[in-house]
Formats: sequence, C-alpha cells, structure tokens
Amino acid sequence: MKRRIFIKSGIITTTALGLIPSSVFAVPEYSYEELIGKGNPKLFGDAINLRKEAYEAFIAMKKAAAAENLNIKIVSSYRDFFRQKSIWERKYKQYTGNGMTPEQAISKIIEYSTIPGTSRHHWGTDIDIIDSNAKYPGNDVLDPVKFEGKGPFRPLKVWLDKNAVTYGFYLVYTDRPGRKGFKYEPWHYSYRPLSLPMLEAYKALDVKHIITTEKVAGAAHFSDSFVQRYRRENILDINPDLLP
Ligand SMILES: [Zn+2]
Repeated sequence: MKRRIFIKSGIITTTALGLIPSSVFAVPEYSYEELIGKGNPKLFGDAINLRKEAYEAFIAMKKAAAAENLNIKIVSSYRDFFRQKSIWERKYKQYTGNGMTPEQAISKIIEYSTIPGTSRHHWGTDIDIIDSNAKYPGNDVLDPVKFEGKGPFRPLKVWLDKNAVTYGFYLVYTDRPGRKGFKYEPWHYSYRPLSLPMLEAYKALDVKHIITTEKVAGAAHFSDSFVQRYRRENILDINPDLLP
C-alpha cells in the first residue's frame, strides 16, 4: 500500500529506481483511494454509474432480460466513502438510540451494510438490482423474500441464476450453508472481470487503518479481533467464484 502511494505521488528519483526491486515498476491498476471509495472513477450510464466495461456488460444483460419481459433496474451501484459513512452513521445512531450497546449496533449493521471504506459498491463494479416490471408491495425492495417462492422478483432471480454469468455478473453474498459475513443478498451482483482484480488489490490493504482513520461512529469498538473477523467473514466469505 505504501508502495502504491509512493508510485502514485511520482517521487521516484533516478537514484531510488536503482534500489527498488523490479516488481515495483508495474503500474498499479487501482489506487488506494479508489479501492476505499475516495477515488474519482469514471462512471458510465444515467442512473447506472458503473465502470465502462461493467456498464457495457450490464446493458447487454439488460437487453437480453428485456426480451423475457424482465426490466432490470438498478437500485444501487456506485457509492463513495462518504455516502457509505452517512448510511453507517444513520443506522448506528438509530440502533444505539434504541438501547443497543455499540457492539450490538455494529453487529446488527453488518448483517447487510458495510463499514465505510470496505464496500464493494465503492468500486463501480457492483449493483443491487430488481425487476421494475414486477408489481411489489411497499418500498423495501431489497428483501430476500421478494426473490423467492411467489415473490415478485422470483422470475428475475431464475433468469439471473441461468444467465448473469454469461455477462460476467456473479452473486456475491450467496445462500451457501455455513457462509459467514453479510447475509444472503439475492439482489447484489458483481462484474467479475473488474471486481476480481480489485479484490486482489484490496486484500493487500490494512483494513484496520481504512476503517479507523475517519473516526466513523463506533470506530472505537473496532478491536483487532473484530477487524480480523470482519475481513475474513464480511470481506472474504463470498461466492468463491469472486475470490482471486
Ligand atoms: Zn449491494
């Protein structure tokens, strides 16, 4: 990570070049900032907001689904660090205000929401999707029940199970028995050709540093053991197809 920042700031002198191992000369594809949601990635598509390659694949998938009368709608795609921070702090305030201890509030939030700086939505590769042709009750569209049984998004789910990988999109938080970390999210897909190398780069980062530098609410309770478990379960216990 320090190496990346070093390269990025462009302060390699001729003298330094002679001392650095050759592996350093590979230009990093993703900066520390863009991996933690503080970069400024070029995003494509109105209300789509994905990196170019992911955007193009999404449009192709959306077209194919439309032929089956499914209208794939993005509920959420790119979110930056500060947007995630506001989501985190709203929930933290709500849960602790309802009498939870900080530890209980954090456990509850990380059933579905990430600590700012650790969201795959920071990457411009991941989307939460529904079928806007379906009639559904209420506003809470990202509800697993709506994707199962007689739920309104079941036909979309069946179609995605069969076709999404053709376009490079993979479910991240699967319902595999014994999987830990975030709960089952039948709506959250990731564009693997980009998110795989991004996760590989992310794995080299210091998660504790990322989540404690901004002092988000509850950060004082991110103990070393909590951070290790969060990294192992919430960041890395995902669909194995998405692991580098
Ligand atoms: Zn999501």
